[in-house]
Amino acid sequence: MSLPDRNGHFGKFGGKYVPETLMAPLGELEKVFRAALRDPSFKKELDYHLREYAGRPTPLYEAKRLSKHLKTLNVYFKREDLLHTGAHKINNTLGQGLLAKRMHKTRIIAETGAGQHGVATATVSALMGLECVIYMGAEDVKRQALNVYRMNLLGAKVIPVTSGSRTLKDAMNEAIRDWVTNVRDTFYIIGSVAGPHPYPWMVREFQAVIGREARRQFLAKAKALPDYLTACVGGGSNAMGLFHAFFRDKRVKMIGVEAAGLGLNTDSHSATLEKGEVGILHGSKSVLLETKDGQIKIAHSIAAGLDYPGVGPEHAYYKKIKRAEYVSVTDKEALDGLKLLSKTEGIIPALESAHAIIYLEKLAKKVRRKSTVIVCLSGRGDKDMATIKELI
Ligand SMILES: *Cc1c(COP(=O)(O)O)cnc(C)c1O
Repeated sequence: MSLPDRNGHFGKFGGKYVPETLMAPLGELEKVFRAALRDPSFKKELDYHLREYAGRPTPLYEAKRLSKHLKTLNVYFKREDLLHTGAHKINNTLGQGLLAKRMHKTRIIAETGAGQHGVATATVSALMGLECVIYMGAEDVKRQALNVYRMNLLGAKVIPVTSGSRTLKDAMNEAIRDWVTNVRDTFYIIGSVAGPHPYPWMVREFQAVIGREARRQFLAKAKALPDYLTACVGGGSNAMGLFHAFFRDKRVKMIGVEAAGLGLNTDSHSATLEKGEVGILHGSKSVLLETKDGQIKIAHSIAAGLDYPGVGPEHAYYKKIKRAEYVSVTDKEALDGLKLLSKTEGIIPALESAHAIIYLEKLAKKVRRKSTVIVCLSGRGDKDMATIKELI
């Protein structure tokens, strides 16, 4: 099954667990999105922006020196790092921005953790001439001062959130509160395949361009399908974006790589699918990290884009039906991944993407014969230079 059911469930995951006042706006959003999917003029406008503004199609690059190092794997990178703003997030914010215009909304809101989704949202708001308000945990505002500066330059207003742990999940709660109050003129852009239906499905549809292109490019180059797909998983949008087009290709194995942070036996990780339990967070049923008394845990990863205590419902479903496998690597391993790709290929990846890269060393030891793999290179490493400089 690759479409959610009428109430937005992938198997038992997903759905809409929101205040009554949001049921109608979510229904309206779903209606407009369904109509847009059938409307050739929407597709044309989105394709135009993806091509002329964001830089699609991105290359599928065969990493020959890295492959030689790994011996048993032939590695291809889907280069989302080459997109405008430096990561895959722009695919989704362009799509939702165009929907906001269609719905005649004049105001955009979003939540952001590290600031990557905030920057992509502020970018699209500037492009489309829409007012933009970004909710960001007060802790994150301090830690990610450069991204706050970027958002301000792009004309967005950043509101620090001082409740709870003052991080991403609190920012998301505050954004939902704003939406309830201002729903008439406001469009809420969610940054991953999470949140209430129709968001997980909608964001997946906007990111699925990654896998559609990669599948076509790989077939043209290798005259066969790849043996493996792999991508890092925070909320799960770049991974689902790559996986979706291959759902029916039963022989293509899919591996999502989560952040094991300081280690799975500590409290400081973000390995939701490996260590989490079924629960409800930010409007949908999925798997999440919680304490013994049912509070949401604070997730940790060296990669700010991965430290989310939940995961998109469709990934919980893929794991349940065994369509994909989920593994994790630590902060330290991810740093090795960043160094490895930098030295072998001259590409400095984002710390998020570095998780999927270093996992290749483990995969290379497991495969029985020479195999091919497509890795989603979700973003570039520029944003991480200060973090890395401190650590190396
Ligand atoms: C935000 C981000 C991620 C994690 O988000 P997903 O929804 O899991 O894709 C991964 N890589 C980069 C570069 C990011 O900015």
